[in-house]
Amino acid sequence: MVLIFVDHSDSEIKKSSYEVLSYGAALAEKVGTSAEALLLGTVKDDLAVLGNYGVSKVHQVSNEVLNNLDAQVYAKAVADAAASLNADIIIFSHNQTGKAVAPRVAAGLKAGLVAGAVALPDTSNGFVVKKNVFSGKAFANVNITSAIKIISLNPNSFPVKQTGGTAAVEQLNITVSEPKVKVTSVNKVKGEVPLTEAEIVVSGGRGLKGPENWKIVEDLAHVLHAATACSRPVADAGWRPHHEHVGQTGIQIAPNLYIAIGISGAIQHLAGVNRSKTIVVINKDPEAPFFKAADYGIVGDAFEVVPKLTEEIKKLKG
Ligand SMILES: Cc1cc2nc3c(=O)[nH]c(=O)nc-3n(C[C@H](O)[C@H](O)[C@H](O)COP(=O)(O)OP(=O)(O)OC[C@H]3O[C@@H](n4cnc5c(N)ncnc54)[C@H](O)[C@@H]3O)c2cc1C
Repeated sequence: MVLIFVDHSDSEIKKSSYEVLSYGAALAEKVGTSAEALLLGTVKDDLAVLGNYGVSKVHQVSNEVLNNLDAQVYAKAVADAAASLNADIIIFSHNQTGKAVAPRVAAGLKAGLVAGAVALPDTSNGFVVKKNVFSGKAFANVNITSAIKIISLNPNSFPVKQTGGTAAVEQLNITVSEPKVKVTSVNKVKGEVPLTEAEIVVSGGRGLKGPENWKIVEDLAHVLHAATACSRPVADAGWRPHHEHVGQTGIQIAPNLYIAIGISGAIQHLAGVNRSKTIVVINKDPEAPFFKAADYGIVGDAFEVVPKLTEEIKKLKG
């Protein structure tokens, strides 16, 4: 059986979960087994609806300790659930939760793990999973030989498929361990759209000259309902908060649309954004390396181009 871990925050199922559900369901079909989902804690969403993404059952562990992520508690719960359900393959999203939980589950179950898969496994000769390596510069094909196999899927690597089905929801009785750390307060980053979940990201670099000029980035982000991001020197200089820094040493994102304004396109920056579906680059230097990675490029001064773009999008959106 393929067991798919359904991630949530603030009582809502995360967007990345629908992608892993579709991936897990397709994998189950490929290897001739069933696809079932596991949800730890409680959410507002109707869990039967997850059947629309290809799973026949949703196993829920309704324990309020699990409403917030604690990687150690989660890992034990997933491992125990997988053992009691006889799961052969466990699927996570390669997001913050998956990165923290999947390796611990793999260690607990002595299972092989491919972290950051980008495609369905090739099962014609073994169980070979394609994954990103060297910050997206190359791919590796990794054969998992253990009895239990774990995959974490890179976000935006697999299309979400709605099947029209509904799932049976069952409570799963497992012992949930006490957390070893206690969260005393949570200070959430305020922003319109969280960067890691955003479909569209508008990002600014040193070409914007200073923090006082970020309004043009924010205005464009606002009309597109996008998250804002920045290059590392911008965060290092304190122009923008560090949680907006994308790249090799920052957050790695894969939105549908990434708009880079006044960013040169250094390899360390590209490492965090080159999995974006469409990249638009706005730079006054036609030789800027970012244009080589761009799907669309505008050679021009950001201070002229960006406000015009924002106005045109406003008009289009009526
Ligand atoms: C180990 C290591 C790790 C790193 N990790 C990261 C990382 O995670 N993320 C990251 O971003 N960087 C990282 N860097 C830094 C990276 O190498 C680059 O220095 C950085 O990305 C450059 O930032 P930038 O493009 O904003 O600035 P610049 O390289 O200074 O580029 C500014 C760009 O703006 C353009 N421009 C100027 N004025 C205008 C205008 N008016 N209109 C339009 N365009 C204009 C210029 O033509 C230029 O292309 C790392 C470096 C190292 C060594």
